[in-house]
Formats: sequence, C-alpha cells, structure tokens
Amino acid sequence: MWWSYEEAAEAKERVQREIEKRVKRGERFEALMPVAGKKHLCTTFWGKAWCNHLESYQEFESRLPRGRSYLRQGSVYNLNIEPGKITAMVAGAELYHTQIFIHSLKVSKWQDIVEKCEGQVDSMLDVLAGKLGNGVMSVFCDLENGLFPKTKEIRFDCSCPDHADMCKHVSAVLHGVGVLLDASPELIFTLRDVNGADLLSKAKDAAVSELSAMGGELAEADLSAIFGIEIGEMDQPVKKSSEQ
Ligand SMILES: [Zn+2]
Repeated sequence: MWWSYEEAAEAKERVQREIEKRVKRGERFEALMPVAGKKHLCTTFWGKAWCNHLESYQEFESRLPRGRSYLRQGSVYNLNIEPGKITAMVAGAELYHTQIFIHSLKVSKWQDIVEKCEGQVDSMLDVLAGKLGNGVMSVFCDLENGLFPKTKEIRFDCSCPDHADMCKHVSAVLHGVGVLLDASPELIFTLRDVNGADLLSKAKDAAVSELSAMGGELAEADLSAIFGIEIGEMDQPVKKSSEQ
C-alpha cells in the first residue's frame, strides 16, 4: 500500500526536514549505519549471531526482511538498548517511535549457561570478541537455551498505522540490534538483564592456578583487567620472572 515514487520521495524529504528542525532545537538524532557495501548487515560474531537468530523466527519470516532496506538507508535513529527494552525512532512516511520489549533471561536459564561455560571463560574480552571455543559460543547461541530471545519473549509497539503486525520499523530496529552488537557486544547481556561477569567468577580459581604454572607470564595489568580486582588482594602475589 505504498504510494507513488513521487509521494514516497516527498514524504522522505518532509521527514528529513523535520529531523533537521529538531536537531537545530538540540534534539539528538544519531543514525545507525551498517557498514556500507557489505553483503551482510553485520560483521562480527555477536552481530551475525543475532541476525542468524532472527532468521530462525518462522513466525515473523514474511515480515522480518522488510526492515533491512530501511536500516541500510540509515532510517533508524537513536537505537538504545536497556534491560528488557529496545527503543528507536524510524524515519518512514513519518517519524515513528518504535519500542521492543524482551523478557529478561530467566535466572535458571542463565545459571545453566554459566554452568555450561564453567572453567572455559578466562576473559570477558574473549567472550565479547567471540573468540572462545565453538563449544562455549554455541552455548550462547543455542536456539532454545541460549542468550537470544524466543519469539514468545518479544513484544513490540510502533506509532505507525501498521503496528498490529510486525511493521517495517520494528523489523528495521530488530536488525539494527545486530549492527549495534557489532560495535557494543556487551549490550546482549544488558538486553537480557544478566551480568556477563558471572561467566568469569567460577573460572577465576582455575585461571589463577594456571597462571602460577605459567610462571606469571601475564602482566599485572592484564590480571586486573581479567578479574576486576587489585592484584594486591590476591593471596599469592604474582612475581615477575626476573624475581624468581
Ligand atoms: Zn511501525
């Protein structure tokens, strides 16, 4: 039910003028832009994993692809992720407010994930870079019991007239989450309302003994980053090789 090309172009210009006016008034409008010229919207482990997961949503299969071109055109603004909630503005025939509500990950499910990863996660940086072994990464991405939401855990709302079904704007924002995860993968933990650092807590003791065995090759700064503590708090101070 789209209008003629001229009418669509006119609407687009009108919305752009509206955005410019609001920017002049001091409002923030940050367009989310996928990397141009790439076949796929997302380029990193987490971005791709999110988009792959979207493709598993049979219920939304016919509607989900509609938002991709919106996203590629830079029509998604101010995408924000907080625990259980994604918000954005999308430039369509008008400027629409889009909200997506995602259930927090059940505590028991998160505990299962943490247990399955026990002893295998030494650094949050590896988690965020998607650099752990396939075993751990597939725990995160498991369709049933992983970190990504199932369709029944998703509710959405858009100020456009098509809001009863999944509109182009909701679809664009859902894909936009993948693009945002490329830049800020830690937001997957924020969105599902879990503490990613829980993955490290049980690995800590094992990692410390492994480190002792290595003769303290890691610099103290690295250790602080890994465990989020001052080195002085540890029982066994790490000696530099030269002191041994
Ligand atoms: Zn909409």
